[in-house]
Amino acid sequence: MTMLQDRPATDTKLASKVPSGPLADKWDAFKAGAKLVNPNNKRKFKVIVVGTGLAGASAAATLAELGYQVDAFTFHDSPRRAHSIAAQGGINAAKNYRGDGDSVHRLFTDTIKGGDFRSREANVYRLAQVSVDIIDQMVAQGVPFAREYGGMLDNRSFGGAQVSRTFYARGQTGQQLLLGAYQQLARQIGLGGVRLFNRCELVDVVVIDGRAAGIVVRDLLTGEVASHAAHAVVLATGGYGNVYFLSTNAMNCNVTAAWRAHRRGAYFANPCYTQIHPTCIPQADATQSKLTLMSESLRNDGRVWVPKNADESRAAHEIPDSDRDYYLERLYPSFGNLAPRDISSRAAKRLVDKGQGVGPLKNGVYLDFADAIKRLGRDKVAERYGNLFEMYERIAGENPYEVPMRIYPATHYTMGGLWVDYELQTTIPGLYAAGEANFSDHGANRLGASALMQGLADGYFVLPYTIGNGLAPLLNKTVPGTDHPEFKRVEAEARDRFRAYLGVNGTRSPDWFHRELGKMIWDYCGMERDRNGLEKAMGEIPALYEEFKQDLRVTGTAEGVNQTLEKAGRVDDFFQLGMLMCKDALTREESCGGHFRVEYQTDEGEAKRDDENYCNVSAWEWTGDAAKSQLHEEALSFETVQLATRSYK
Ligand SMILES: Cc1cc2nc3c(=O)[nH]c(=O)nc-3n(C[C@H](O)[C@H](O)[C@H](O)COP(=O)(O)OP(=O)(O)OC[C@H]3O[C@@H](n4cnc5c(N)ncnc54)[C@H](O)[C@@H]3O)c2cc1C
Repeated sequence: MTMLQDRPATDTKLASKVPSGPLADKWDAFKAGAKLVNPNNKRKFKVIVVGTGLAGASAAATLAELGYQVDAFTFHDSPRRAHSIAAQGGINAAKNYRGDGDSVHRLFTDTIKGGDFRSREANVYRLAQVSVDIIDQMVAQGVPFAREYGGMLDNRSFGGAQVSRTFYARGQTGQQLLLGAYQQLARQIGLGGVRLFNRCELVDVVVIDGRAAGIVVRDLLTGEVASHAAHAVVLATGGYGNVYFLSTNAMNCNVTAAWRAHRRGAYFANPCYTQIHPTCIPQADATQSKLTLMSESLRNDGRVWVPKNADESRAAHEIPDSDRDYYLERLYPSFGNLAPRDISSRAAKRLVDKGQGVGPLKNGVYLDFADAIKRLGRDKVAERYGNLFEMYERIAGENPYEVPMRIYPATHYTMGGLWVDYELQTTIPGLYAAGEANFSDHGANRLGASALMQGLADGYFVLPYTIGNGLAPLLNKTVPGTDHPEFKRVEAEARDRFRAYLGVNGTRSPDWFHRELGKMIWDYCGMERDRNGLEKAMGEIPALYEEFKQDLRVTGTAEGVNQTLEKAGRVDDFFQLGMLMCKDALTREESCGGHFRVEYQTDEGEAKRDDENYCNVSAWEWTGDAAKSQLHEEALSFETVQLATRSYK
């Protein structure tokens, strides 16, 4: 057991830089006091933005509009392929268009409570404040949000909220938002404000004299390794859910950018906080390599249930209401089917574990639209969710208008990420992280429709102010160029690393190792964790990693397109991250949000926090060995909200 007196105090490197003053005034106070770079001087600064999803595209476009020279990098062929495009359900904003009691304060408290009181109050308040501007910005860019009969933007409810604040464009909200942000990025590419480097993967970060000096990238078409220098670097490189192998994330989402920055000195925060989404299509067989999300928006109208009897053999429509357990409505009457994700996921797992699962493998629960179709009519349901129903039918081979959908939890989002201060700066000065790549504002559990909000808040409304504050003191000072020996050294290291993967000449593919690793992390550090399992993982993962180093087989060469080689680098980083996730989960001896330690639960099976010892952010420092990382803590203090037991009953 970790005793309180053994625990590190808040590190000076972890100064959050939250402005003083009342919570509601902090962001205005920051902006009023921030250093400015005058319009003519902005072009003297080069900013690198890695990632062109919602966070990166919005940051790159806005910084270029302001006048900075921006170099944007993505490993995709087009920015439009970023994983953000997959987002279905919607984006939150405290507009209160429905007049149903929403406000900035309510979005703020919902988010703090949703995150189980493990996020930084001032950041979350700012997020709620700027949420309203995001919608205006995106409407101005032509995003076709759904509208209601009066012409106002329509919205719906997502988990963990009792108001309707989720704006949506059918089931394609991420796609429409990304097209909006991409248009702005493309405009700046056309004007010369942004240089776009596509099919380029960041493989390292260069730090000189304690400051981020640039990045090293590998051209995925030629294999060439090259350096780029800048005054500031922004990582908007997404989340690391694919560490589990099976997840709802796009297949090539990975942790490399954040991990390589971590190895150069950026602390990694709360790595064990991962979100398992309750509404995914259950795995159909053991060889599957991807899981599909069915948007949380479906839980607005769909009712979740399982048969009361574990031996039930009747078809869903033959089972009368009296033999069904609408368990979310029973357990959490105030929020019902819209209970937050962590809570709904665990409830589903408990019932499936008890044998009440449905489907051929008994590994799912029903999400039933029969009542909604009766109440609203099939056309209305199709209007709201038509494309999601089609997608389900294509994958599951069942028509959800006729037969209830089957769903089960799957890895979806990572709340952990690079530690950042109020300015979104990591522990490496000059290196910023935005969107899912930072440890962000979601604490131990993210509420639905809040990731798009946070990515766009970071890119459009936060970084443009905070980066100027960081750059102003550098005016007319020389920064190292790519001819600096450190760039050459890091480039050489990267070339050697990729050559080494090719040189192992073993028998197993990177994919094989990834699947094995993912299974271990799912089993020991998934929806539930306990000391025994985590200790086992801390032994088994390093052993498998050794095997990876001895028995990896990468075919082809380092010159030209080689997706197996790309994958080897990413799996290498997943191994190191996986060890840190388990170490973090082992160290946090409490349950909170998505981090459910079996040993710490209430009599009713809910998460039991330990605010006395763990009301903090864990931030890990690289020491050269992922299993021996150094823990630092940022204490969390709450001025406005009362730390309370999270209840959705
Ligand atoms: C199926 C699905 C549905 C979702 N639906 C919703 C929803 O309805 N509402 C909501 O709020 N959230 C939703 N989310 C979550 C949300 O989509 C993501 O959290 C968000 O889009 C992440 O945006 P981002 O800009 O941070 O990263 P991403 O969109 O993942 O972009 C990452 C970018 O970084 C680049 N990149 C990464 N590594 C490197 C590297 N090493 N070198 C160069 N480039 C690199 C990629 O090419 C890409 O351009 C959903 C997630 C999933 C999986």
